[in-house]
Amino acid sequence: MSFKLLGLSEPILKAIAKKGYTTPSPIQAKAIPPVLDGYDVLASAQTGTGKTAGFTLPMLHILSENPKEKFRPIRALVLTPTRELAAQVYANVKEYSEFLNLRSTVIFGGVNQKPQVANIRNGVDILVATPGRLLDLCNQGAISLKRVEMFVLDEADRMLDMGFLRDIERVMKLMPEKRQNLMFSATFSKEIKKLAFTILKNPVQVEATPENTAVEAISQKVYRVAKGLKTGLIIKLISEGNWKQVLVFTRTKHGANNLTKKMIASGITAAAIHGNKSQGARTKALKGFKDGTVRVMVATDIAARGLDIPLLPHVINFEIPNISEDYVHRIGRTGRAGANGVAISLVSADETSFLRDIQKLIGEKLPVEIMEGFEPDPNASTAPIKPGQNRQPRNKSKGSGDKPKSNSGSGNGGRNRNRNKSRNSGGNDRRSNNSRS
Ligand code: AMP
Repeated sequence: MSFKLLGLSEPILKAIAKKGYTTPSPIQAKAIPPVLDGYDVLASAQTGTGKTAGFTLPMLHILSENPKEKFRPIRALVLTPTRELAAQVYANVKEYSEFLNLRSTVIFGGVNQKPQVANIRNGVDILVATPGRLLDLCNQGAISLKRVEMFVLDEADRMLDMGFLRDIERVMKLMPEKRQNLMFSATFSKEIKKLAFTILKNPVQVEATPENTAVEAISQKVYRVAKGLKTGLIIKLISEGNWKQVLVFTRTKHGANNLTKKMIASGITAAAIHGNKSQGARTKALKGFKDGTVRVMVATDIAARGLDIPLLPHVINFEIPNISEDYVHRIGRTGRAGANGVAISLVSADETSFLRDIQKLIGEKLPVEIMEGFEPDPNASTAPIKPGQNRQPRNKSKGSGDKPKSNSGSGNGGRNRNRNKSRNSGGNDRRSNNSRS
């Protein structure tokens, strides 16, 4: 299979060749033909599968085949849950449209809106946006979505996790009824299926990886360890393994900061990336991580979502996620594009039930090791956490230094709430927190 056989136009093929891609990835081979044929598409694909090109390439093809008048109304809207993902999708759109007469721009919160508004006033065919800033600018009359022909909802599952459902509904009301819709999601919960039903019309369904399964190229390992010894263990693993590029996940923003400081104190270059960091700080951290000046990036789930870091060799879960699907997302950061990756999870006694849930989801038992000098605490409680119960009191008593300060201020704590019955009421609060903080 070649890109040419998929029916993409010469300028797009030229841009693909410039990127060095020779063969379409499975999701591209499956998604591009129905999109080109004008169908709505529901695609199951996580980051790392080449999904961005999967929707961008046919979108560019369709838009360029049918050019509009000189004044360029927004004809394609790509909605992403995070600023980082918006920036990455936009970078891809720019690259793939290099040889086409199409204009694009990106908008997201946390930065001055004036240049964004100015760009849009100049006329753009493709807009990549996060929901909060998009709705702000629509409400101010700076953006009209009345001429949108193609709508892409990227990482729909994360959109819902972050409480964006209402915003998505608002955005849909601002677009014409007649349009082509593409929806990408890594997981397919009942809520996602419900959302797909409201957005998509007779969609073609395509799938790149089996639902909720961990990628085979990733070697996964668990270290059982006492909570208070995790920092020492992670520093030992990174230093002695001489690992050069490690993405570490913590459950909270506070935990990310704390661990970053300790890494730096022990001579490992590290940077934290989470919702409390300014856009500039996040961009700088990611750039340093990509160019190798920063060895370790410590991230919360939401901040790390959608980051394009090719061939990431190591992912470490400093704390394993309490939402099992997040484990699949996290380890999906490694072993990309056929390369082997290592995903390590440090698991303390109070995370035992989370580990069990994860193993159930991925359908395999993870190999467990104990490092000498970093043994688990035989007296620590393994009592499972009841649904809806917050982890805060449990962490508090441990004094690990990685406890969340508050639920709403944590990088991930609020997600529990979103998955509870009070999903809708809690969701919007979280959305404001994450998209604008
Ligand atoms: P994505 O899943 O869209 O975040 O893409 C993951 C990575 O794969 C990015 O670094 C892309 O540049 C790269 N990529 C996308 N399509 C291809 C392809 N057909 N061949 C090789 N690399 C690709």
